[in-house]
This record gives sequence, C-alpha cells and structure tokens, in this order.
Amino acid sequence: MRDRVERPPRLGAAVSPISEATWERALDLIAGADEIALACHVSPDGDALGSMLATGFALRSMGKRVVGSFGDRHFAVPRLLRFLPGQDMLVPPEDYPAAPELMMTFDSPSAERLGLIGPSVAAAREVIVVDHHRSNTGFGTVGLVDPGAAATAMLAEQLIHRLGGTLDRDIATCLYAGLVTDTGSFRHSSTTPAAHEMAARLVATGLRTDEIARELWDRSPFGYLKVLAAALDRVELCDELVWTYVTRVDRAAYGLPYSEVEGIIDIVRRTDEAEVAVVLKEDDEGAWQVSTRSKGTADVGALCAAMGGGGHRNAAGFTSHESVDDTIGAFRRLLGKV
Ligand code: AMP
Ligand code: MN
Ligand code: MN
Repeated sequence: MRDRVERPPRLGAAVSPISEATWERALDLIAGADEIALACHVSPDGDALGSMLATGFALRSMGKRVVGSFGDRHFAVPRLLRFLPGQDMLVPPEDYPAAPELMMTFDSPSAERLGLIGPSVAAAREVIVVDHHRSNTGFGTVGLVDPGAAATAMLAEQLIHRLGGTLDRDIATCLYAGLVTDTGSFRHSSTTPAAHEMAARLVATGLRTDEIARELWDRSPFGYLKVLAAALDRVELCDELVWTYVTRVDRAAYGLPYSEVEGIIDIVRRTDEAEVAVVLKEDDEGAWQVSTRSKGTADVGALCAAMGGGGHRNAAGFTSHESVDDTIGAFRRLLGKV
C-alpha cells in the first residue's frame, strides 16, 4: 500500500532529527497494538486536535480500536473546532484508559500538558510522542519529535504516509486545520517550503479551504466583540511590550467560553511599536493562561519556560496563579523591560 502515495511528504527541517530506526519502532508498536489511546494537550488548538483525529482516522482504517481525549476539567471540544470530522473517537478524561497498552500523544511538550490524562503516560506500556515543541521534555518511549516542523500535523502526515494510509477528505481536513493554525495561515517564520507542499497535497483532496477558514476564524459570537472591546480598552504599550488581559467576569457577561478568547493575542500582536505581545486570559478555575508572541528578537519560549510554561521561540505560554500585575511584572523583569 505504501507506494500508492507518489510523492513522499518531506519534513519541515532540512535534516529530520527523527531517525529511520525511530520511525520503524513507532510503526512496529502500532502494528502490534489492537487498541490505541490518543491524547493531545489541554485546551486543544487546531494542531493538537487535528493531528490526533487525522491519525485516529488512519489507525481506524487499519482496523485498530481508537479512543482519543484531552484532559480538560470541563471536557468540551472548542466551538471553533467542532467542524472537524472524527469526533466520535473522543471520550471524556474519566473514560480514558488508565493504563493503555499503546498511547500516542500529539502536540504536547510534556505529560503535564495532557492535564487530567497525563498520569496515563506513566502507566502506559508504550508511549509514542508526536510533537514539534523545542521545549519537549523527551517523555514517552518513542519520540517522533521535530522542532523544525511547522506543525505537529506535518509529523502526523508523515506518520500516516508511513503507515500506508491515503489522504482522504477527513484526514486532510484535520491536518489542514493543524497546518493553518500553527503557521498563522502560512504567515509565521516557521512556514517552510515543506509546509506549502503539504498544503498542496491536502488541498488536492478537494478541501474547501474557504469553508475551513470561515469555521476557524469567522464564526465568533457577537459577545466576542464585546469582550474583545473590553480587552482592547485596557491594552498597554510600554517599552516594546504590548499587553492586556481578559477576566472570566468579562466572559460571563456574554456567556463566552474560555476557548473563544484564545485568538485575542492575534489582534494584540499586530501592534507595530511592540516587539512582544502578551494576553493574560483568566480560565474558568481562576488561573491566568498567558499567551506570548515575539516578532523574533526576544525568545518568548525561553522566557515562558522560566515562568514554568513553554512553547516555541516566537509563540509560547505559561500558567500563573498570581495577580495580573504580579504576573506581568515578573514577565517584564525576565524580558529586561522594567
Ligand atoms: P497559545 O498562546 O495558547 O496559543 O500557546 C502558544 C504556545 O505556547 C503553544 O505551543 C503552547 O503549547 C505553548 N503554551 C501555552 N500555554 C502553555 C503552558 N501553560 N505551559 C506550557 N506551554 C504552553
Ligand atoms: Mn498546540
Ligand atoms: Mn503545534
């Protein structure tokens, strides 16, 4: 079946850090498993959920029993990702296998980022980690980890290809959601020729890219504009840092779930005068989920790692249980902008 794909997909990095022996080990583990438990990071984005569901489709077509989940306390697929096919694979964290024979994780740099289902990593017999975070801790028993890949979806495509799967419309939809999410619609510096080549393969399956774009970015409820207005009303620019925050009280006034405010960083980061953008978002538990973006000079991935989080050089985040002022103060001290 494998030679059915004429042009083999290429990875993002010029030289992949994933050895052939590692790919073979992953393929062997998958071949030997009847049931495979998939997982992606909490508050899943298009790359996390898209990579996981795409791989789930390929595994199911090989006759595997597949379950997938993410470990949020309030388990719900973010509204803007509900158009992704394959959601019948999903189970809430309480129904997730406590000790899977084979577990596969997607777009998660650590077991901790799997939230409530993180403990299954330690209990699983084998864990294949599919990820592109430079901050990946090296958890799991087989690491399909390439920081040069623009999205985990690129590694998932490679894996599906090596499994002998074909890109059908469902798989392509899920992978495309991952690719456009993480490359910022092919605008970010991570966008390689390989990312565009992959997009061409996906679009060739007959994807309606306009419909996917509308689902991902143009279906916000009216309340989003009101909450955005509140966040923008308090935005501050100081020493090339632009930042603001969104509280759960802001959201409650319009019944807006947390996942709806994830995109505010993409508006705040447009500020020409700022090198770094930060948005603090209060989640339903009262913790601050902090999104940071850099235009390239500052390594926000390293700064966020120092704050207990992680991510990429130009897009990273961390969680804070301190006040807004204390959190932004600590971040600014690290940034050297105080
Ligand atoms: P976001 O701002 O949520 O879009 O996240 C940007 C990047 O930072 C992603 O690669 C996330 O995986 C990473 N990230 C965000 N929040 C955290 C966190 N609390 N801990 C570790 N990594 C994070
Ligand atoms: Mn992600
Ligand atoms: Mn990703």
